[in-house]
Amino acid sequence: MTSSSRKYALEFLSYVNASPTPFHAVESSKQLLKKAGFIEIKEREPWAQCVENGGRYFVTRNGSSIIAFGVGKKWKPGNGMALLGAHTDSPALRIKPVSKKFAENGSFLQVGVETYGGGLWHTWFDRDLSIAGRAMVRHSNGSIVSKLIKIDQPILRIPTLAIHLDRQETFTFNKETQLFPIAGLAAAELNKTAADNSSAEKSGSDGDFKPLALMTDRHHPMIIDRIAKAAGVNAEDVLDFEMILYDTQESVLGGINDELIFSQRLDNLTMSFCATVGLIESIGDEKALDEESGIRLISLFDHEEIGSQTAQGADSNFLPAIIRRLSSDAATAFEETLIKSMLWSCDMAHSVHPNYPAKYESSHRPEMNKGPVIKVNANARYATNSPGIVLTTEVAKMAGVPLQLFVVRNDSSCGSTIGPMLSAALGTRTVDMGNCQLSMHSIRETGGAHDVEHAVKLFKTYFNNFSQLEPKILVDSTT
Ligand SMILES: [Zn+2]
Repeated sequence: MTSSSRKYALEFLSYVNASPTPFHAVESSKQLLKKAGFIEIKEREPWAQCVENGGRYFVTRNGSSIIAFGVGKKWKPGNGMALLGAHTDSPALRIKPVSKKFAENGSFLQVGVETYGGGLWHTWFDRDLSIAGRAMVRHSNGSIVSKLIKIDQPILRIPTLAIHLDRQETFTFNKETQLFPIAGLAAAELNKTAADNSSAEKSGSDGDFKPLALMTDRHHPMIIDRIAKAAGVNAEDVLDFEMILYDTQESVLGGINDELIFSQRLDNLTMSFCATVGLIESIGDEKALDEESGIRLISLFDHEEIGSQTAQGADSNFLPAIIRRLSSDAATAFEETLIKSMLWSCDMAHSVHPNYPAKYESSHRPEMNKGPVIKVNANARYATNSPGIVLTTEVAKMAGVPLQLFVVRNDSSCGSTIGPMLSAALGTRTVDMGNCQLSMHSIRETGGAHDVEHAVKLFKTYFNNFSQLEPKILVDSTT
């Protein structure tokens, strides 16, 4: 492994380890962007005063999606943009609104969870799990703020059944009743409940009407205590939360030559990280935007794994609204910009699996560490077409980064990405691509360590050269 590809792989490991939820992934990207001089702007405010040619900015929505961009010094509304999209979410188990459960015989504390996205749920058994997310908490001054929470200790576990008690050939289970974490033994909670009840009574004794049961009644008080402690507030000031479970085992380099990455959430924090670093590197130099006539932009969306149709998903107005605000001078500038732009929709792809080669189309078997994979699908489950492939190949040639191609077998099901929906909403040329990995949607996936640098270099070169390359690739024009 070269020292440079090792550096990118290690930087990615710290990013993914700090980002168990989309909220944390956005925060991790924000930290990198701020360090590189990007300025935070808000959708709630007008931008006329704060967004200038030559500037670098980012904006978040719901704390779980983020758009960052650099404006060319020669930018004019109506010019094209180099866009790159990815997603911040991964399949996970989420704590239910009322999660407090006791095992039927009363011996175990259990926590009710809901499945989020299409996880390979059998991989969540026997892992050392904890919780992370965001809590809405009340500060002493009365304001209510959102706090990022990440509890590092393994406090939860979903136990498998001993083989002696059920010799199943294939492992099957009920997702409601058997994918059910334990949080310890009930005896501990019983002692705790007494103390907690007094505080619950206290907060109820002011005669306040309570439209919902207290958080400490809906969830195990010890879980609320942990969250309150992490947020630096009292338990009664935790008003609500969105928490998911994550594996406390850290992501690491693996393989006999450190050529692999063993990690949770490779899909799609690999692309989120590479997008952030690619953009930063492309405009890291102070003069980098001097000759730029376009805008270089990344958008990292939450909710891809559940169909993207939310206020901050790729199917929302988040990206169109930002593009419109940046190109709103003339009546048709927004539409002109869309048609001169390109979107790289970046999401992880499937590496060939050595034990299941027959599952892959024989001429399209991507391999790890051999570069990003362009995904093609005749039925537009991926948005790639020829002009997109040509431009990507030109960029890859300049970057010295190898590329691979993927199509799914005709007799196989196919995934999809944010590419088709964004290209339909924007009318912008789109390419679907991403690094390849094994075990997508497992709690512990495997990716290629060298591919992190491949993607960063490719993205950086795309941003650096899009405005020059775009006018040369002609469609819908008479020549
Ligand atoms: Zn994905």
